[in-house]
Amino acid sequence: MSAAQEGLRRPVVVFSKNYLPVSQIPVKRALILLVSGKAEPLELEGCGERIPVHSPSMVFLVPPLIRLTMNHIERAWRVPGVTRREVLRRDKHTCQYCGSTRHLTLDHVLPRSRGGSDSWNNIVTACEICNSRKGNRTPDEANMPLMNRPKPPSHPLVAFAEHFWREHKRRQRQAEE
Ligand SMILES: [Zn+2]
Repeated sequence: MSAAQEGLRRPVVVFSKNYLPVSQIPVKRALILLVSGKAEPLELEGCGERIPVHSPSMVFLVPPLIRLTMNHIERAWRVPGVTRREVLRRDKHTCQYCGSTRHLTLDHVLPRSRGGSDSWNNIVTACEICNSRKGNRTPDEANMPLMNRPKPPSHPLVAFAEHFWREHKRRQRQAEE
């Protein structure tokens, strides 16, 4: 793959008009937004170099961050239902007791037989071994602490913004070293 092609694979991070990181798009789409005036470059210390995009006659330098100049229309979102698929996704397909990624099941933190509900706060991903070891007990009783306190998944925009700033800080620390 040529350097130019590789550049095209680098994603551009889009900020909303009010400076919140909202999504990641391919560099070509970012270029279209810039050229049509729907976005402008956003300067942020340590955000990386501009990405060259070649057309037959010229080179555009696309900034790694852009900011929309219009209001960002948010798609409606609500907390998803507690399904196996959504719980596994929230827990990153990892047993919340031992970290295993194999033979995953769902576990009621407070067992159902003892009044535990089917809610986001009471269902976690557990491997078969941990699930049967824990049995009809709470994590405390079984002496099996949870790796994360179970809670509903966060809004995708919030999750994206948190991820962006975490990565940004990490890159800045790396640059300082
Ligand atoms: Zn486990």
